[in-house]
Amino acid sequence: MGLARHFFIAAITMLVAACAPATMVPASGVEKAFAQAKQRHINLREFIAAMPKGGDLHTHLFGTVYAESWLKWAEEDGLCVDQAALTLRVPKDTCAAENLKDAATALKDQALRNRMIDNLSLRDFKASNGWSGHDQFFSTFFSLALRAKRKGDMLAEAANRAGKQHVSYLEIMHTLELFESILPRVASTPMSGDLAADYQTLMDGAFGKALPDMLARASAQMDQAMARKDVLLGCKTDAPEPGCTVLIKLQNQSVRTLPPAAVFAHFIFGWHLVQQDDRFVGLNLVAPEDDFVALRDYNLHMAQIDFLYKTLGPRNISLHAGELALGQVPPKDLGFHITQAIKTGHAKRIGHGIDIVHEDGYRDTLKQMAKERIMVEINLTSNDVILDVSRGAHPFYVYRATGVPMAFSTDDEGVSRIDMTHELVRAVEDFDLGYDELKASIYNSLKYAFLDEVDKAKLLADLDNRFAAFESGF
Ligand SMILES: [Zn+2]
Repeated sequence: MGLARHFFIAAITMLVAACAPATMVPASGVEKAFAQAKQRHINLREFIAAMPKGGDLHTHLFGTVYAESWLKWAEEDGLCVDQAALTLRVPKDTCAAENLKDAATALKDQALRNRMIDNLSLRDFKASNGWSGHDQFFSTFFSLALRAKRKGDMLAEAANRAGKQHVSYLEIMHTLELFESILPRVASTPMSGDLAADYQTLMDGAFGKALPDMLARASAQMDQAMARKDVLLGCKTDAPEPGCTVLIKLQNQSVRTLPPAAVFAHFIFGWHLVQQDDRFVGLNLVAPEDDFVALRDYNLHMAQIDFLYKTLGPRNISLHAGELALGQVPPKDLGFHITQAIKTGHAKRIGHGIDIVHEDGYRDTLKQMAKERIMVEINLTSNDVILDVSRGAHPFYVYRATGVPMAFSTDDEGVSRIDMTHELVRAVEDFDLGYDELKASIYNSLKYAFLDEVDKAKLLADLDNRFAAFESGF
């Protein structure tokens, strides 16, 4: 009897010890409400929709716009529709002259409109033999066209969607001057591989001469876009729309599938743009990482960044790296991109980071990322549709286990037809996140922003206030 009693007390003691954190610290009202909301998808959507969300650190200007907006602007601006290819085109003269149909007329046909929306996004997409989510995703960008003045409309759409969801900061990737100014000037410029010599070749040639004008034009275009965004959202009226509260900064987005001279020249352009225009806070490198040029030149691009970092000075770098999966490319191409983005490309943040466990010496890379606080921008829907990586196959678990900071972002909410709330709901459901972990990821989305210390402190204080107000409601 005495022995049984002894075991009973010991068991109770162990049980209490095992449950100590949960039983000793009662769940707060908001934690109880979160746990309740997690029971049903629609209630979790409601809960997270109302929650403060900090920043979206990985979003592309062209990818953030929904297909319906592209069509509306095409109709209003006299663009053409290629009814066979289901693409938009800016006419050189008239649509008739190019065997296209003007958008305003063509898009009166609801069936065509539906096919266009499907082609400009992932709506109703089903992978088929020879056409994957990856193919559909990246092909959308070749189907788009707009007048430059619409960049303000794009910013307004992104900002208002963010503001309505209590997102307070957007760090938007955008490409300026590359295709219209830089590529024609440098496409046939030979590069030797000696970076100092190549830098000099570019600066002594047509690119270097045009650089000051390009930088001035880029800033002027952004002045116009920001001003138009403010007008569209009524930011200077007494009834401003929610997007007016959202701080917008930009990253210079270079394209890794172009010839080496174009990538290098656009990096140089970006290096100067970030220095002279404080709306541009960092640099990035985009486009399909499995493209043959992107794979061939990966180390060269990292070396180009390293050269500029050491000669023109440090900049904030975030890099799409390891957006690759086994089967998509040979194993050797999975072996080093994230590691090199950090070691040679000076990346302070990694976009996607999906192939991490395939990298040589990845445990050391993870340790470095945790120690140096190199954050991963996690884009769940994008990873699912482009790489077919989700849930238990997602490296979220590896980063979490090794203490690497992470924040969730949208990547291309227009193409994927999602929003920030959707991505956070998905994170909670896919990874069974607790309230504290979700909240910590939201704080990361501002802590790791490429903002100066003053702006960052302001936004973090604002986030504290928003959370205090949100949590006091439970
Ligand atoms: Zn991206």
